[in-house]
Amino acid sequence: MKIAVIGAGIVGVSSANWLTKYGQEVTLYDRTDPGTETSFGNAGTYAKYANVPTNSSSFFYLFPYLLLNKNSPLFIRGKYFLKVLPWLTKYLSNCRPSKVKYTSEKLTTLLTKVDEGYAELFKEANIEHLISRESVMYVWSSKLFYNSAIPDFTTRAKTGIDIELLNHDEISEVEPNLNNIFYKGALFKGSYFSKNPKETTEGLLKLFQSKGGIYRQEEVTDIKMNSSDNVEIITDKSRETYDKIIICAGVWSKKLASLFGDNVPLESERGYHISYKNYNPIKRPVAWQERGTYFTPMNNGLRVAGTVEFAGLERELNRKVINFLSRSAKQVFPDIPSHDNEWLGFRPSAPDSLPVIGQSKKNPYIYYCFGHQHIGWSLGGITGKLIAQEAIANKTDIDLTPFSVGRF
Ligand SMILES: Cc1cc2nc3c(=O)[nH]c(=O)nc-3n(C[C@H](O)[C@H](O)[C@H](O)COP(=O)(O)OP(=O)(O)OC[C@H]3O[C@@H](n4cnc5c(N)ncnc54)[C@H](O)[C@@H]3O)c2cc1C
Repeated sequence: MKIAVIGAGIVGVSSANWLTKYGQEVTLYDRTDPGTETSFGNAGTYAKYANVPTNSSSFFYLFPYLLLNKNSPLFIRGKYFLKVLPWLTKYLSNCRPSKVKYTSEKLTTLLTKVDEGYAELFKEANIEHLISRESVMYVWSSKLFYNSAIPDFTTRAKTGIDIELLNHDEISEVEPNLNNIFYKGALFKGSYFSKNPKETTEGLLKLFQSKGGIYRQEEVTDIKMNSSDNVEIITDKSRETYDKIIICAGVWSKKLASLFGDNVPLESERGYHISYKNYNPIKRPVAWQERGTYFTPMNNGLRVAGTVEFAGLERELNRKVINFLSRSAKQVFPDIPSHDNEWLGFRPSAPDSLPVIGQSKKNPYIYYCFGHQHIGWSLGGITGKLIAQEAIANKTDIDLTPFSVGRF
């Protein structure tokens, strides 16, 4: 079959690779350089343990604190508040324990297969040198937040991850260069991280091209049904017909899906990073829980990434968020120099914290793979594999019903 994939972030590039591996004729479209949107600036963690949705039950109780505290990683742009309110209401309503349990079970089915989605691709792409096997460490600076996380340890362990709890002194033994202001920590054994997400995505793109895949730097502006059994992609530069199309355009998928009457409540949870070139005091990603902030040792310096801001898709950076990240970095690394790069990305999030994977309900030639919220870097490989199986043969390794666009 002749299949088009729209979007060359980690989800699209992985999907394109799996389709090629399954013998399809694949063209991948992106309006910009591959891997340079949300997949560029994340914390790089393959977070196999991340089956507790961000809108967990404890989040509901902590929400007023997160909204009002000056050290909170949550930001809402004043003029955007009313716009995001319906989404936020749905998001908060999903904090009820029965829903959290359901979400967590569904995320677990994907997270237990993270390695299955990537291992072969990494090997074939020859990019193992970009992957560090040092496991991710969470740290808590307050008893309140640590205690609220305790029930999650059992849930997280269901992904097969071995969690080693650490006391104050043990945190320093694991990472001696941290200013140890922390009460407790946890090591998620078996998790790992990319030392350079952009180079990782580029490596996977090269693999795709080496197997005959075609990459076109074009913006998809429309998709039309033809009278014969195929669909046509119209871009700023060309028109081309395909047997099937897979939309993997991150947060921008909402607009493309709406062309077919699939209205997905996708919101951008904006995240930021700042980076410190050639400064690398730690070996592994360290995630300060109260601050929603990761410190990741990339191969070009320390990346300080995180926060959630609701302010739509405009590109302007909020100085308050940048200052928040830089203040947090200074507390953990008092001798840190000034940062030399600032970045903003758009996590694609549905209010139930599950991605959308599967066929359009309105058009049998259109498939979706987007909405990976906070864990798309981890899930790109396996969801790419699953959507390839679905598009080719409607026969997938796991049941995709819970991820269907029909749930909205
Ligand atoms: C600060 C931060 C930290 C994070 N940390 C982690 C982490 O440690 N671990 C983890 O698992 N996840 C993490 N994430 C989440 C993860 O980065 C995202 O879930 C993931 O990158 C989403 O990938 P994607 O391919 O769906 O989207 P994107 O990377 O945004 O790619 C979508 C692509 O579609 C293209 N596109 C859109 N519209 C069109 C069009 N009309 N025509 C052509 N092309 C189009 C865009 O140009 C873009 O390249 C983090 C996110 C942020 C912001």
